[in-house]
Amino acid sequence: MMNSSDPATVSTKRLVADWTALMRTFIQPEDAATRRRLLKYMEQILFGLQNFLQDHVGITEAVSLLDLANRHMNSQIPEMPEKKLADVITDLIEDIAPHAVNVASPYFVGHMTSAIPFFMIHLKTIVAALNQNAVKVETSKVVSVVEKQVLARLHRLTFGKEAAFYREHVQSVHTTLGSFVEDGTLANLTALWVARNRLLAAADTPVDIEADGLAAAFRKAGIARCVVLVSRMAHYSLQKAAGILGIGHRNVIPIDTDAAYRLDMISLKRTVADLHRNAPDTRVLAVVGIAGTTETGSVDPLAALAALCREHHIHFHVDAAWGGPTLMSPRYRHLLSGIAAADSVTIDGHKQFYMPMACGMVLFNDPAAMDCVAYHARYINRPGSVDLGIKSLSGSREAVSLILDSALNIMGSRGYALLIDHGVGLAAALATVIQGHPDLELTSPPALNILTYRWCPADLDPRCDGITPEERARRIDILNGLNERVQRLQREAGKSFVSRTTLRLPAFPDHETVVLRCVLMNPLTTMDILKEIIDEQQSLVVRILSKGAAGLAGAQT
Ligand SMILES: *Cc1c(COP(=O)(O)O)cnc(C)c1O
Repeated sequence: MMNSSDPATVSTKRLVADWTALMRTFIQPEDAATRRRLLKYMEQILFGLQNFLQDHVGITEAVSLLDLANRHMNSQIPEMPEKKLADVITDLIEDIAPHAVNVASPYFVGHMTSAIPFFMIHLKTIVAALNQNAVKVETSKVVSVVEKQVLARLHRLTFGKEAAFYREHVQSVHTTLGSFVEDGTLANLTALWVARNRLLAAADTPVDIEADGLAAAFRKAGIARCVVLVSRMAHYSLQKAAGILGIGHRNVIPIDTDAAYRLDMISLKRTVADLHRNAPDTRVLAVVGIAGTTETGSVDPLAALAALCREHHIHFHVDAAWGGPTLMSPRYRHLLSGIAAADSVTIDGHKQFYMPMACGMVLFNDPAAMDCVAYHARYINRPGSVDLGIKSLSGSREAVSLILDSALNIMGSRGYALLIDHGVGLAAALATVIQGHPDLELTSPPALNILTYRWCPADLDPRCDGITPEERARRIDILNGLNERVQRLQREAGKSFVSRTTLRLPAFPDHETVVLRCVLMNPLTTMDILKEIIDEQQSLVVRILSKGAAGLAGAQT
């Protein structure tokens, strides 16, 4: 008998694509050696996730992206099989994973992608195994009703309507409380899609914008332009949405923010009044409030926005892609008060619901809101069916609702609240450290669990009195270069990661100031770890400044 555990035997036998081999790929690993290798890694992934990630992912910094690109230049599909499953698995774990990013590290505090509970991998595996297609009931059956249930759970969290409302709508085939989509970008797109269609349908014309197109709808309604009003801190997905919907992203009008990067109501009211007075053929398609801006975590004044929208009959969308789950925290949910008066709300599952990539959701206050984006086909999505594809931007899609529904049962809102409270508490504590540090400047106060700051040694501080405008401009440039360089060198060193962006600081509204950004969502991140990250940056600052101009050279990346 062939010794199948001998690696030489495994790899020298010529592989062929024949019917027998093909049949096996649908049923089981090709041999005992493959099975063992599969089990070895799966055991680590399924039962020792943190250690697995620590040991295998993102451990090689020496190889540049260019080198990696050069290793992946093969544009040909092999005619005959080149590798056994065992070898592919080994490649993925030994050659690919080391060059991926360990987003689960407690030292990785730069982005909205972080550690996830280990059970998410199990749930994801089960969902993959079932391979349901949520587009229609014929390929998903129970998934369709689970999805409606979990949308009702989130709707209730967000809008808090009476129990009778949910009894009526949770499984109604005629109404829908929201929709799952790929991500927050498509959730925002869906919200504006509905807002656009409702606005143009309300103009009392028989024109159907989906059927006749935007130009016909504009003509019939006697308007020339639609605009979306949102703070200048808006996520760029709103611009994409405006582009796709034919609104034009120049018509996403940025509204000024206050010193804490929240939308400024006075500027918004002025803009609305200006449009009324000076642009009679322009309509406001939607006002968007952000509950947790991507860059600073700021929350717009949602209640005031809701009141303004009600007064002017404007669709009020809340982009709570980041901050939505804050509603589960009794301590911090008041920060989002006013959200229940929104017409639509975006929430991302892969952010603070700690789901695996990717899961976007959009909820509608009015269960009939999505009627204006309904589509039917002859073979599926027939009128009156439960098919979720009728009112959905996506076609075929994964049954991610099973993951979220299960996760809510495992964690409870209390579990999620602990995560939220940990992040917000950590951000506040870090802000205190930054404010007490002579060389650091807090550039945005943490409303939620995101904050920004920058290195600003006293002898380079552009805010100090008695310097010429030229000197001030010079210092601003130096600090931008310094902060860019610190961020890049720290990332390249490979242990810690904070991100960077630019803000218009109230003190220098005409300049884009480079700031460092921390997103604190990993429950394994501690204050000690954050202090280590700051200490590492401090030594980089010292090193860079000791080299003078040369230290700052090459900062423009
Ligand atoms: C993350 C985010 C989005 C959308 O992000 P996706 O990457 O498409 O999921 C939208 N708005 C805000 C405020 C966000 O933070």
